[in-house]
Amino acid sequence: MKCALVRPSGEVVHTERHPTGAARGPAAVVDTVLDIAEGLADKARADGLTPVACGIAVPGVVDEATGTAVWSANVGFRDVPLRDLAAARLGLPAALGHDVRVGGLAEARLGAGRGTTHVLFVAIGTGIAAAHVVAGSAAAGAHGAAGEIGHILVRPGGPRCGCGRPGCLEAVSSASAIARRYAELAEASRADAASDGARPAVGVVTAANVAARAAAGEELAGRVWREAVEALADGLATGQALFDVQTIVIGGGLARAGGQLLDPLRAALRERMTFHREPRLVAAALGDEAGSLGAALLALDSLE
Ligand SMILES: [Zn+2]
Repeated sequence: MKCALVRPSGEVVHTERHPTGAARGPAAVVDTVLDIAEGLADKARADGLTPVACGIAVPGVVDEATGTAVWSANVGFRDVPLRDLAAARLGLPAALGHDVRVGGLAEARLGAGRGTTHVLFVAIGTGIAAAHVVAGSAAAGAHGAAGEIGHILVRPGGPRCGCGRPGCLEAVSSASAIARRYAELAEASRADAASDGARPAVGVVTAANVAARAAAGEELAGRVWREAVEALADGLATGQALFDVQTIVIGGGLARAGGQLLDPLRAALRERMTFHREPRLVAAALGDEAGSLGAALLALDSLE
């Protein structure tokens, strides 16, 4: 859990990190969230600050209107009224948001999308999810599940996605999909060449390893990286057809590849634009603090 004390200006005055301990079950995680929030409010007062609101963001399906963590595969939340629990514990107004949507909110208002009104934030890590931010506000959808760009179908009959369907964007272009695809192909080519009997096992490979090997000119890594970029461009082109944004901000672990990701992605996206305007494609600027900042913004917005 990444936590922060944030001034209304967006200035971060204190940060903390705590283990989620998801294996303890959702009730224990909720207790920990409330304990940490209370501790942060106490810390603020001890430092002569006045806490005015509490923002919390969680993964999964989040109903922001009722402040309910509806569903989360990672933490096991099922209809947890987290906003009201936090408000009761802290005696402060509280807001509950979705991790990627609040990250997008922060990037759009304070980070890489600053100065533009229509922003699509796309987080690429173990999965792929997005936030569509218009005039500083991220739409949550009718059921709290807007922005699931990772489940756009880009490769019918392709690799099976965690959602159960073959060919979703995140089954091809997420960091975990890139690592998996490379390991499969490398293992297959090793098996083909096994007659020399001396080839080492492929071992554990990350998307960052694949990026490094592609940059060093390794053919197989280059192919896997290109395939991922092409599929990502298909997904972003669909996003642009739907949302017509000025800026697409790429965040999450894969964005650390920088120009190696953004340069070919920009070119591939440009090829796919017909009458749509090409968006500016940039890397996220706020790093790990985007979520805490966005949760704070959401809490401040809820006071208005
Ligand atoms: Zn899917």
